[in-house]
Amino acid sequence: MQYITYNDTTTYNKTELLNYTLKLSHVSERYPVRFTDYYAGLVKRPDDAIWKQCMPDARELEDTEQCPDPLDEAALSPVPGLIHRYPDRVVLLVSNRCPVYCRFCMRKRLVGSGDAPMNKDVLAAALEYISAHPSINDVILSGGDPLMLDDESLSAILTGLRAIPHVAIIRIGTRIPVTLPDRITPQLCRLLKRFHPLYINTHFNHPDEITSASKAACTLLVDAGIPLGNQTVLLKGVNDSVEIMRELLTGLLALRVKPYYLHQMDLVQGTAHFRTSVQDGLKILQGLRGHISGLAVPHYVIDLPGGKGKVAVLPEDVEIRGTTLVIRTYTGEQVTYQDITPVSNQR
Ligand SMILES: *Cc1c(COP(=O)(O)O)cnc(C)c1O
Ligand code: SF4
Repeated sequence: MQYITYNDTTTYNKTELLNYTLKLSHVSERYPVRFTDYYAGLVKRPDDAIWKQCMPDARELEDTEQCPDPLDEAALSPVPGLIHRYPDRVVLLVSNRCPVYCRFCMRKRLVGSGDAPMNKDVLAAALEYISAHPSINDVILSGGDPLMLDDESLSAILTGLRAIPHVAIIRIGTRIPVTLPDRITPQLCRLLKRFHPLYINTHFNHPDEITSASKAACTLLVDAGIPLGNQTVLLKGVNDSVEIMRELLTGLLALRVKPYYLHQMDLVQGTAHFRTSVQDGLKILQGLRGHISGLAVPHYVIDLPGGKGKVAVLPEDVEIRGTTLVIRTYTGEQVTYQDITPVSNQR
């Protein structure tokens, strides 16, 4: 991957970060460590929000109770590299490489290890499976980071998908605008826009990740007509506060990035130290709705163990007493709302 070459213009001493990771080689042997000069350059001090996301931590090895694949992705994989959980959409794992190995990654079991998951034969089998299932109309490229592939490989995958008439939507999940923004080139955007309707969900977790470089990457993508969404993972000590979350979400909106999901941490082995309680997550959500633009408010989702799917959870703010609803407003006021009798109760 020769595009991981970067002009080191950062203020932080990267050698220090590398020396630190060497001291934790017992962790990196199990869970690979990688970061770009760019992303390392966003670290302002040890243990800040950027550091926590990319630096190895001894606690990763202490978490032995959680499971490597709690969402049962392997069991939901009819052919290698494909996860088919919902009837109408599938996830295609096209890469197991990323510019930065996020310590909280839900695919910690896969990223940075083993051979590339996608080769010609694996791709052919996955495309054949999708072709044979007309119910599939939405294909999500994920991994690892799909944009770690070179333009040629990416183009081959997208061309294969576009040859299947019932695939209406293609989505790409990528953290590259955050971790390696220079990979988003005009050339890449010209390639991607040949495959519309194509959506990208990126992955910003903290306001410090909003920089002139990540902004430029998002601008190129949006200007290519690619709707940009964002998936944030709720991370203890990184973004688990109303203030940080507001700054992040409104900052994204200003980049024309629509916050899509706020993910409760999956119960993935090696990541327990990042977990917050759902109750705390709901409190944060309560601090968003009504307080900031509705466009900036994501769905807070729990991806249920065992592959049961994503479920959006909401702070309980409606109490139903017959046809009278008592509703709590964003300021905490209780307001009654007179409903009519639901159709389901009428004869
Ligand atoms: C998240 C996910 C999807 C996409 O879900 P949306 O709610 O449509 O974004 C599809 N398949 C799997 C296996 C997923 O984990
Ligand atoms: S970029 Fe995404 S897939 Fe890659 S390590 Fe980070 S969270 Fe995992």
